[in-house]
Formats: sequence, C-alpha cells, structure tokens
Amino acid sequence: MSRQLVLASRNPKKVAELHRILSDAGLDIDLLGTDAFPGLPEVEETASTFAGNALLKARQVCAFTGLPAVADDSGLTVDALNGMPGVLSARWAGSHGDDEANLRLILAQVAHVPPGRRGAAFHCAAALALPDGTERVVEGTLEGELIDQPRGGNGFGYDPIFLPLGSSVTTAEMSASQKDAISHRGVALRALVPVLRELLG
Ligand code: IMP
Repeated sequence: MSRQLVLASRNPKKVAELHRILSDAGLDIDLLGTDAFPGLPEVEETASTFAGNALLKARQVCAFTGLPAVADDSGLTVDALNGMPGVLSARWAGSHGDDEANLRLILAQVAHVPPGRRGAAFHCAAALALPDGTERVVEGTLEGELIDQPRGGNGFGYDPIFLPLGSSVTTAEMSASQKDAISHRGVALRALVPVLRELLG
C-alpha cells in the first residue's frame, strides 16, 4: 500500500509539481494537499530563516494530520541589501503577497546600485516532519542578478527582474518547465527524493 504524505500548501500547482517529481522518481507515495484537511490552522512564519519557517509549517501540519508532512519556504536575497528581503520577501512592501508592490520597492531600493553589484539569489528550504519526531531539511538556491526593467509575463513575485547566472532571459520569460529545471524550489524538492525514499520508501 502506498504511504501518505501531506504537502503544507493549498496551491494545486505546488501539489502537482511535487507529485510529478515523486512519480518521476518512482516513489509510490500518495500526496495530499492541505485542502484535504478542513480546519487546519494557518501557520505563522515567525522564524528568521527559510529552514526555520519550513520546519514550523511541516511540524504543525504533521501534528494536526498525524501524517508525514512536507513544507517549503522561499524568498529572494539581494546582495546590495545585505540579504534582505529574505524571509520577508512575500511582505516586503507591507501587505502579504502584493507581488507588484514588492517588486517596485526592490527596484527602487537597487535603482542606484551599479551593474556588477546587483547580485541576488532565490532560496528555498523544504522540510519533512514525521509523526515519530524525525525531521529533515533540504535547500536549493538559484543565483542571479537583478535587472532594472521588468521583463516577461510568466512566473510570479520577483521573476520579471531576476536574471539567472548565465541566462539571457528572466525567470518570468521562461516556461514553467524551464524554470522548474533550474529553480531553487525544483532543486530543493528534488533533493527531498532520497530523503523520502530512505524514510518512507
Ligand atoms: P512562499 O515561499 O510561497 O511564501 O514565497 C515567498 C515569497 O518569495 C513570494 O511571495 C515571492 O515574493 C518570493 N519568491 C519565492 N520564490 C519565488 C520565485 O520563484 N519567483 C519569484 N519570487 C519568488
């Protein structure tokens, strides 16, 4: 019988992405989103690191459902801003998830930073928590730089101003599968495969 695993997300695209990664790896795991658990409380992201927030979410979803749980946390770090916005990426301009305002604020903050000093990176931590208390965290990073005019209509968040190292297109000009192949999130989720095989396989 296949093992059950909950992904701490209500976003069907995130559930589908992890589902594809697990089945490509031949893992017989039945993946559920948090929609399957009405009443699940929202978890506050109060930690100061991506790994800390991912663990907070995985732990709480595991405790609520009694099932192994995976959660991720991600964001952008900007060299010229000493690593900010980091874990504050989703609420950098004030209200949570206002992608347009967040992007405008970052652009204004780096407006006078010369080319060559506009390094930035996307980060993702993915955490697994098991009912017996076992916990693991894996991470993925995508290095790049910020451009000064948004380009591209795909993706979300800071994608229109993020140029991966060695790429001539922003992550908002890539298809979903091109981005998944190199993204911080794709790297972190694929790094979970051997961990899941070891602990749930
Ligand atoms: P969360 O991990 O879904 O909470 O995302 C945190 C925030 O980081 C998002 O709201 C975006 O602002 C930013 N972010 C994370 N991953 C990406 C990405 O792949 N592209 C653009 N922005 C991202």
